[in-house]
Amino acid sequence: MEEEILPDYESSEDENPTNGDNKVATSTTAVHESGFADFLLKNEILRAIADCGFEHPSAVQHECIPAALLGTDLICQAKSGMGKTAVFVLSILHLIEKEGKGIVALVITHTRELAYQILEEFNRFTKYLPHLKAKVVYGGVPIQQDKKDFAESMPQILIGTPGRVLHLANEKIVSFSNVKYFILDECDQMLEELKMRKDIQEIFKFTPHTKQVMMFSATLSDDVRAVCKRFMHNPREIYINDKAKLTLDGLQQFYVNLTEEQKTRKLISLLDVLEFNQVVIFVSSVDRAQVLNELLINEKFPSIATHSKLKQEQRIDQYKNFKKFGARILVSTNMYGRGVDFERVNVVFNYDMPHNEVTYLHRVGRAGRFGTKGIAISFVSSDEDREVMENVRKQFVVKLPELPDELDCSTYMT
Ligand code: ADP
Repeated sequence: MEEEILPDYESSEDENPTNGDNKVATSTTAVHESGFADFLLKNEILRAIADCGFEHPSAVQHECIPAALLGTDLICQAKSGMGKTAVFVLSILHLIEKEGKGIVALVITHTRELAYQILEEFNRFTKYLPHLKAKVVYGGVPIQQDKKDFAESMPQILIGTPGRVLHLANEKIVSFSNVKYFILDECDQMLEELKMRKDIQEIFKFTPHTKQVMMFSATLSDDVRAVCKRFMHNPREIYINDKAKLTLDGLQQFYVNLTEEQKTRKLISLLDVLEFNQVVIFVSSVDRAQVLNELLINEKFPSIATHSKLKQEQRIDQYKNFKKFGARILVSTNMYGRGVDFERVNVVFNYDMPHNEVTYLHRVGRAGRFGTKGIAISFVSSDEDREVMENVRKQFVVKLPELPDELDCSTYMT
């Protein structure tokens, strides 16, 4: 544990009495009686929101945006696909001042694809704020390229993965001395992994003491929540969904009992009978992703695979390709297990069961996003798999029955 090098705000002088009034709002996707205009956001932002087709704020947006706009430090937990990204993107864009010098907002997340996705969200909402610029940085890109980009123009918003962000700070290629907004997306994943946590602590020390810190995830254990708080001044904690309600309303979940040898045949027969817009198939290793993808292509399925061993440009190309519906099936390692948003995915397979219930919850949350329908099917082939399934049932109070012989496609196709 690295806690001794964390700035311990709990003992800081300017502490106010705690206002950590934990909230549990309803789990409905959109709050129909409220509109984005109620947040009194800049007109340019409201126009971009309308262009995106967002009609009403989701519950998490309804609860968190007003708190974020007040400058409060924030810990926000809400289930997958409910629009947590827009909470910090819209709030930062509203709060950031025109004359802001250097990097004012720093957003850190755990994978390159998610960092890229967040950049795209900033780009969508800065349509009418052309003076606000965002840039993404991550490993796999020559550092000289970043250096050249920063020399040409300095963005106000930087999104990146921990290793590259720290590298840029250590090399003094960028300065974080003007940072006013510090955001960790998928905070539990980053703070649980010791290397990332250490990098984040180092980055944090490059930023000013006074700033607004906001952290987001669908899952937050008590231990990680305590770590989160050590980065914050008197945070507001907003929990939209408590543990038992973290599974998605429109998502049906089933398991199939089978042997390892039966998995591929079963997968192919299910892909033949299921109706799907897009499918994500999770496997446990890079090798398995490659082999399964080739096998599906040989069977004439429109499949692609992504994993950490691809070249950097290929990784982002695969992400963009799948996002714009260029392929219908994606075989992936856990790299896409959380955060990434593919609106049209309505079927998720755990070809290989994940190792724990938290990873399961994030993976299946790639389907059924923002109130859409979906189905998640998990292959259970060992005692360890069965144990994970039991833990999912217990932790998230979900039935998770055996896959029936017949399914009405209207229950998982929007
Ligand atoms: P989370 O971070 O909670 O997993 P995302 O921020 O990725 O969720 O949002 C999931 C999807 O919902 C995205 O496609 C996003 O564009 C969409 N979305 C977010 N907020 C709204 C809204 N208020 N109305 C309609 N769609 C929304």
